[in-house]
Amino acid sequence: MKDVILKYALKNAYDYGRANAGAVAGKVIAEAPEAKKDMKKTMAEITSVIADVNKMKKADIEKALAKYTFAEKKEEEKGITLEGAERGRVVTRFLPEPNGFLHLGHAKAALLSYEAAKEYSGKCLLRFDDTNPEKEETEYVKAIQDDLKWLGLTFSDVRFTSDRMTELYEKAEQLIAQGDAYVCECPQEKIKADREAKRGCKCRERKDSAVVWKNMPKMKEGSAILRLKGCVDAENTVMRDPTLFRIMDAKHYRQGTKYRVWPTYDFEVSISDSLDGVTHAFRSKEYELRDELYYYIVDKLKMRKPLIYDFSRLNIRGNVLSKRLIKPLIEEKKVTGWDDPRLLTLRGLKRRGVMPAAIRSFVLSFGLSKVESNPSIEALLSENRKILEPTSEHYFFIGEPVKLKVKGLVKEVSLRKHPAQDLGERHVAVKEEVWIDGKDAAALKKGETFRLKDLCNAKIVAVGKTIDAELAADEMVPKKIQWVSAIEVKPAELMVIGDLLVGDDYNKAGLTIRKGFCEKACETLKEGDVVQFERIGYARKDGAKRYVLSC
Ligand SMILES: [Zn+2]
Repeated sequence: MKDVILKYALKNAYDYGRANAGAVAGKVIAEAPEAKKDMKKTMAEITSVIADVNKMKKADIEKALAKYTFAEKKEEEKGITLEGAERGRVVTRFLPEPNGFLHLGHAKAALLSYEAAKEYSGKCLLRFDDTNPEKEETEYVKAIQDDLKWLGLTFSDVRFTSDRMTELYEKAEQLIAQGDAYVCECPQEKIKADREAKRGCKCRERKDSAVVWKNMPKMKEGSAILRLKGCVDAENTVMRDPTLFRIMDAKHYRQGTKYRVWPTYDFEVSISDSLDGVTHAFRSKEYELRDELYYYIVDKLKMRKPLIYDFSRLNIRGNVLSKRLIKPLIEEKKVTGWDDPRLLTLRGLKRRGVMPAAIRSFVLSFGLSKVESNPSIEALLSENRKILEPTSEHYFFIGEPVKLKVKGLVKEVSLRKHPAQDLGERHVAVKEEVWIDGKDAAALKKGETFRLKDLCNAKIVAVGKTIDAELAADEMVPKKIQWVSAIEVKPAELMVIGDLLVGDDYNKAGLTIRKGFCEKACETLKEGDVVQFERIGYARKDGAKRYVLSC
């Protein structure tokens, strides 16, 4: 049994950076169903094996994995199928722009690219798409790498588009020499009007583009652009002589003031993909119209052509997935920062106690489909619950507390930290007074008998500002409520997260704080630990006394 556990713990750690007990348990049971007979023992073994495996280096894990064989994937674990893909030769890429933090939409692009490459034993590279000096910053490069690592994605090959400006200039010169690109010095308004009117400008026919191009680094910002000679009356507006290069004065976070003439996304992405050996390029459907331009550029340059896959853009009901829309919320202080737990940034989700494995299975469930859907966050949270269930310790949290006095109740109890798994116990001493949740207290009536969970039965004698009760016979009663011992109580705050938006507007009630108490045993929890507050939900410890309700 131990060997089966080790095999899947290694595999899980290798695939996702860290092994997860829930995920390993599922695999172990599938291969060795007898493990189910004593789940307590199985989980204890898994926990101990995982602890060792998670200390190992990736190279050692890989070595240890080599002696195991894995059954072929079953039908229901549908992978990603790529056209023209050859095992071992697939190259994909994830292409973040270092101008903000990653969100769930980026996670989808990153995970699809990463998983597709893995499916074919290929390679996924990380390339920073950094050719807009006005918006990009070094801190985002670091933040993006940290977030990807948290997501369990490790990239051995990291590149920066701005490092290949010389090559990009050469390609531009080739297009100019072929008569496929020209320098346009028309005012911006004229260019816009010409495009709308499906009209070309006189610069199209000029003969001195190569000379003016060479001079562009010395020209004023906005005074000239390099344009592709596309098709001025194309139905696809993207093809109406798009901009390939523009002059920008802003200092680049990585290249400083070395360059002033910067390529547009359309130009650099097609060429970089081709140069980087990318075989399959993924991007969201909003770029679909640009596919024609992408292929047109590589064709004109007679370069190797990657295959583009457009997948549906992720939209979550009641929230936003766009840096452009998140930024103003931060600036207007409607949210506390990029890691506000209401946001669907990876940092926000992390603070909310959403596990990388939940994000992974949620975003991959859409696959490469182009069908737009508008799921609620609940689908992600439901995945999260499945992952947290077997490994989260249970505690009691009492909101808006009301005091309950049970005459004659003096007791010390040991409570299990998990009803089914062996996660240890917490010890609690009670001396007549406990706190119960305000909502539970409001529902109690004089003469009613109920159970203080795992402690005793009590019968209400009087209901006032505090509630008086007496011990009742230890028999089955339908109502069970959670409690916290008054002599061991710890103040706690629970951040309850709702939708960020109502319709298109900011939801002022998107974050509420419940003040109350939790058990003394919660003191030993570390920031970042996720526990289950019974009858409330999973919560991540966020500070000395603050918790964020996850799901
Ligand atoms: Zn012009």
